[in-house]
Amino acid sequence: MVERLRDHYEIRDPRVLEALTEVPRHLFVPEALQGRAYGDHALPINANQTISQPYIVARMTELLEADKTSRVLEIGAGSGYQTAVLARVAGQVYAIERIPELAREAQSRIRGLGIYNATVKCFDGTLGWAAHAPYDCVLVAAGGPEVPEPLLAQLKVGGRLVIPVGASRESQRLVRVLRTEEGYQHEEHGPCAFVPLIGRYGWNNE
Ligand code: SAH
Repeated sequence: MVERLRDHYEIRDPRVLEALTEVPRHLFVPEALQGRAYGDHALPINANQTISQPYIVARMTELLEADKTSRVLEIGAGSGYQTAVLARVAGQVYAIERIPELAREAQSRIRGLGIYNATVKCFDGTLGWAAHAPYDCVLVAAGGPEVPEPLLAQLKVGGRLVIPVGASRESQRLVRVLRTEEGYQHEEHGPCAFVPLIGRYGWNNE
């Protein structure tokens, strides 16, 4: 899986490749799908959600440019796989998941792997997590109509935010926002397809 990320998808950051080598993806998918855990695809998890494709996890992590001094906010922890990868490359990870069952499972998998620099809480992540702000990096793993305002406000000057944005799942683009002294710079990083970001500053319906 990791060779493919490096050779086919041109993921270059050695810390990202190492993190994906170290985190056992099969422990984050339902037992019946464990045989497919290292394939190049998203897979269904509980509550109608998905664990992201390894490539997209690697790409988003690379775009964050996190290091061991970084404080990271993650919205949409899902299975906790991306959370575990972030915990390998960053200093501290604050992850939010809106579905209680998934948040509980993600937290217990992370602890089960002996990861203590990441924590998963259950609430609407479009509000951000003001208690630990500002963040060096913000990663949103669900697609919204626009970048939620509170997440921009909680990003440090010099920080990076990565999010899928689009009017529908079919038209999502991966967007990176850089906060500078002067304001916010938006970059596009290609098409993607995530489950909807549901919340106060996301989509309102289920
Ligand atoms: N990176 C995760 C992907 C999970 S899918 C993984 O690899 O497992 C996206 C997740 O975002 C879903 O679990 C969904 O419940 C969650 N989500 C959607 N809107 C949210 C919100 N406003 N706050 C927190 N989580 C949200």
